[in-house]
Amino acid sequence: MSKIKIRDIEVKYHVFHRKVKYARLEIKNGELNLILPLEIDDYQILIDKHEKWIHQKISRIKRLKNESQKRKLDFSRGRESFRNLVTVLVDEISGDMGLDVNHITLRKMKTRWGSCSTQGNITINTRLRYLPENLIRYVVHHEICHLRVRNHSKEYWDLVAVTYPNYQLLEEELAIYWFLVKDLD
Ligand SMILES: [Zn+2]
Repeated sequence: MSKIKIRDIEVKYHVFHRKVKYARLEIKNGELNLILPLEIDDYQILIDKHEKWIHQKISRIKRLKNESQKRKLDFSRGRESFRNLVTVLVDEISGDMGLDVNHITLRKMKTRWGSCSTQGNITINTRLRYLPENLIRYVVHHEICHLRVRNHSKEYWDLVAVTYPNYQLLEEELAIYWFLVKDLD
């Protein structure tokens, strides 16, 4: 692992050589991975080319991490009461919107708070149970809106904004809390 300075921030990076045609980069856990074809050693070009993107991504992660130190998880809500809460919220929100939810699954998810399938099945991340109720409600609402619009298009966000004009703040809040739950059990 090495470090480079990109504008005002220090970025940890790793170089990998793989059987790939083109060099690419990715950000994982707040660190930069540079994936290079076997015969290529110079990664500075890649960094220079994507400097702005790297800077934006990493500084966002740093900011969210910092902000997460000001939040606290609520460990008082048990599994059963979480399941009941989600069930009540799904019934209420889907009822209000006139949409049918086929099945609710609660499980630990590693990359997101929830998901929604084309068959009308909603999956909710069990780690959400440590979050404030308003965020649990928002995630359920977010997934139910996907029953009407699958992707995150403008049409989708317009639908979310009917109930949550401030949805961007809530999405940001969820991103902040992610740093507190991602390493739990
Ligand atoms: Zn979504």
